Amino acid sequence: MTTTAHLPLPATGHAHDVTLDGTFDFLNTDDLENGSKVDHIPDLDAALDWFVERGVIHGEGADRLRAMAAVDGAVARRDLERIRSVRGALREVADAIAEQRAPTGGALDTVNRALHARQVIELVPATDGVSVDHRHVGDPVDDALARLADPLVQELTSGHPERIRICDNDRCRWVFYDTSRTARRRWCDMATCGNQAKAARHRARQKGAPSESATATDA
Ligand SMILES: [Zn+2]
Repeated sequence: MTTTAHLPLPATGHAHDVTLDGTFDFLNTDDLENGSKVDHIPDLDAALDWFVERGVIHGEGADRLRAMAAVDGAVARRDLERIRSVRGALREVADAIAEQRAPTGGALDTVNRALHARQVIELVPATDGVSVDHRHVGDPVDDALARLADPLVQELTSGHPERIRICDNDRCRWVFYDTSRTARRRWCDMATCGNQAKAARHRARQKGAPSESATATDA
């Protein structure tokens, strides 16, 4: 579907740029809360809310998708399936980077397909000069997924992919970016997961059980 209509600019400007943290937030919507799987994108509606909140889909585009999904449940299921599939594939790529191994071919195919769906930006005349028009070529969900995949590619081409980590807490497993000086952080958050690990080691020591990670660095 192609629309060429001018869309009203949001007050904050027309930026769709996602940071790497934004990408990781997307991956971490497939969450473990105290070891139990929780999907913070349980349905298409929640996914669209998340996308609008993060500025990767226009409110108008989301409303259009909601309207289409309302009349055709298969559309909603297909869109949600696509969102979760790209999220899972991006997670596999992040895991592979963190674990220094090759990702599965299927995950790369999915991510590469997602990267190809892209919004085209064109200059259009304005009464007082030139302005930027977004020609929304293609599907807004594809477009949002491409934008969410971008920062990972950017990090691989010109960043520090070796700082991409998976939280060591087995009941968390969040993807995070290690900004520590020594680049040896093991937990997404020292105050929660790091302290849990320390408390667990402390309990193990009190019981007299040797803890394999007792001497590991905490930072
Ligand atoms: Zn964690």
